[in-house]
Amino acid sequence: MSYQHLLAELDLGFTRLSNRVVMGSMHTGMEDRFWHYPQLAAYFRERAKGGVGLIITGGISPNRQGWLLPFGGTLNSVFDLRNHRLVTEAVHAEGGKIALQILHAGRYGYQPLVVSASPLKSPISKFKPRALTLAGIDRTMRDYARCARLAQRAGYDGVEIMGSEGYLLNQFLCPRTNRRTDRYGGSIENRMRLACEIVERVRAECGERFIVVYRLSLIDLVEGGNTWEETVQVAQALEAAGVTIFNTGIGWHEARVPTIVTSVPRAAFASLTARLKAFVNVPVIASNRINTPEVAEALIADGAADLVSMARPLLADPDFVLKTAENRAHEINTCIACNQACLDHTFRNQRASCLVNPRAGRETELVYRPLASAREARSIAVVGAGPAGLSAATVAASRGHRVTLFEASDTLGGQFNLAMRVPGKEEFSETIRYFGSQLQRHRVDVRLGTRVDAALLAAGAYDDVIVATGIVPRRPAIAGIDGSNVLSYVDVLRGAPVGARVAVIGAGGIGFDVSEFLLHRAGEPLPVPRDTWLDEWGVDLAVRERGGLKPPVAAQPARQIWLLQRKAGKLGAGLGKTSGWVHRAALARNGVQMLGGVEYREISARGLKIARDGADQWLDVDTIVVCAGQESLRELLPSTVDGKHGSGGPRFHVIGGAKLATELDAKRAIREGAELAAAL
Ligand code: FAD
Ligand code: NAP
Ligand code: SF4
Repeated sequence: MSYQHLLAELDLGFTRLSNRVVMGSMHTGMEDRFWHYPQLAAYFRERAKGGVGLIITGGISPNRQGWLLPFGGTLNSVFDLRNHRLVTEAVHAEGGKIALQILHAGRYGYQPLVVSASPLKSPISKFKPRALTLAGIDRTMRDYARCARLAQRAGYDGVEIMGSEGYLLNQFLCPRTNRRTDRYGGSIENRMRLACEIVERVRAECGERFIVVYRLSLIDLVEGGNTWEETVQVAQALEAAGVTIFNTGIGWHEARVPTIVTSVPRAAFASLTARLKAFVNVPVIASNRINTPEVAEALIADGAADLVSMARPLLADPDFVLKTAENRAHEINTCIACNQACLDHTFRNQRASCLVNPRAGRETELVYRPLASAREARSIAVVGAGPAGLSAATVAASRGHRVTLFEASDTLGGQFNLAMRVPGKEEFSETIRYFGSQLQRHRVDVRLGTRVDAALLAAGAYDDVIVATGIVPRRPAIAGIDGSNVLSYVDVLRGAPVGARVAVIGAGGIGFDVSEFLLHRAGEPLPVPRDTWLDEWGVDLAVRERGGLKPPVAAQPARQIWLLQRKAGKLGAGLGKTSGWVHRAALARNGVQMLGGVEYREISARGLKIARDGADQWLDVDTIVVCAGQESLRELLPSTVDGKHGSGGPRFHVIGGAKLATELDAKRAIREGAELAAAL
């Protein structure tokens, strides 16, 4: 496929972007501490080297009131310049361009200095904001202008003013959060005054030859958001004030509609960008769930956008653009929108990384150094082609080792072959495709359909054996568990027939996924088509009502489901912060009964007998599906794990589920494989 539109230069008059790919802003945690700037510079350097047209940094506050977290990243004094220059010089050394995102969190700040348009607490921070006074507004505008001027002095090619996702400028723009009666509240002309004056001041401070991106919320997805007509009016006023490029913002953080998780259809909101394009004369960036060059190319070729923003996809693969340009798109390590190592880390105040690329954010620490000479190459057997084994095999081979990868089944991917059958998780197949391409590229000897035993290993005379054999599903000791009405999640996801009333034992990630799977009917189109998805979540892309919400269509679940766990308390508490609520909401909407504090008494032809609050009760179900966790499969490991299998034998290593089944996820499996292979 040709990607000529995506790879075309963009002439901004005073400067040119080498292609249409923008690395969208993504908070990594590194921008908050000055001692992390060398690592931040290395992180951005790799992305610039990979050819992205424009990088936008994580959010940097123009002042202390705007901090997302106490002592968050700021650029408000000349003393900050040294750190930021590390970043801009690294990017420019690779021929890239970079803009600093100025983000004032307003009432989303998780710190006591928070301010907003009005003193209304947000549902996602415990701190109630002070309303900015007129003097405070003036100071804030000066802080933005000073921040932009400092950004210019630090060598940034521009700034992005964050005006969406429910942050300060969005709070001023919408009646939901702006109850002011002065010249910054009331009519849309007043509500947009702050944003427009900020752009004017930034432009005046930095001159004409400086990129000013404005991230504008095109659909707020909250009650009391703006109408489409107001959004257009704001965009036109901002353009007149000096915006160079508009970026698309979708939904406030407090919205109860998912906007970026893996179940959101690709490019689901791009029609809004296309609609805005007709009303403005500057380039417009499409955003949200664009993660392949095909989707990105189509948007630009169709005239729906001038540029595309990809933040997480550039974490997953810094060489996204390079591979696209070299006709190696099949080698792109695609972001699967899981949020597990990026946003979920950020929300836990950990450094952001990536599930499918553990080097992201650790470029200076996790280095895949090529071997100095062929004599250093070791002969390595990797047993198991799940995420852990695939990661170890590809990294080891990329460094120059001789790798043989054994897999008992006839496909690569291990449990990802099950995960990708869950509606909304189809993307997981991309990871298998990526690893497959890397096995080929680095000439790994792949032996599918080969169950390894000790004899086979001994015959191979390997220097190292990496045991990545994964897990076996746990079968809890419940009376009647061997009945014909009991299935494991593996059977179900492989297509075993399941009745109309189902009890799911175990409410971890897999219990939730299996429930989601069972709510769908065989033959329903998957992934869920965009319009169906919009209807299910009550999203009106025509934005007929404020905020673009409409009543969701009633769910029509294929089955009645009881999802059970022994622990008391909320089900799904262990799911990711940014995705768990989506899973819970989807199941609740489909009438799934989620019960905690359950004891399993017995299983019979009648169904499942449980006890809750001391009282026994029968769940009259046709099928019981067991999703009760897993146990490590490590029979290949020598009984004494001293690193050797007898004297002179290979060194043994164990990773992923085989090492530890508890709390296992693909993030750990892939990271362990990569770390081990980087060290061999
Ligand atoms: P596995 O994936 O189990 O791979 C082990 C491989 O070894 C298998 O292919 C097996 O056939 C092979 N093998 C075993 N014994 C031998 C032998 N003797 N010889 C040769 N080959 C052998 N994780 C997440 O992080 N996020 C998610 O959203 C997520 N969703 C999931 C959804 C479902 C439905 C399931 C089932 C799992 C999900 N997981 C998710 C979990 C994730 O898939 C696992 O953590 C991950 O696959 C573990 O990787 P692994 O390589 O250690 O083991
Ligand atoms: P899990 O998260 O550990 O959940 C196992 C469930 O089984 C728990 O609800 C547990 O709850 C129950 N259980 C444990 N032992 C039991 C027993 N003896 N009898 C009855 N119930 C028992 O594991 P999982 O769901 O199998 O998932 C495996 C891994 O894949 C997880 O670590 C998860 O992170 C990952 N994954 C992630 C996602 C995601 O969306 N991020 C999705 C799928 C999988 P009680 O002990 O309270 O009963
Ligand atoms: Fe994408 Fe998941 Fe990596 Fe985040 S952790 S960048 S969502 S693949």
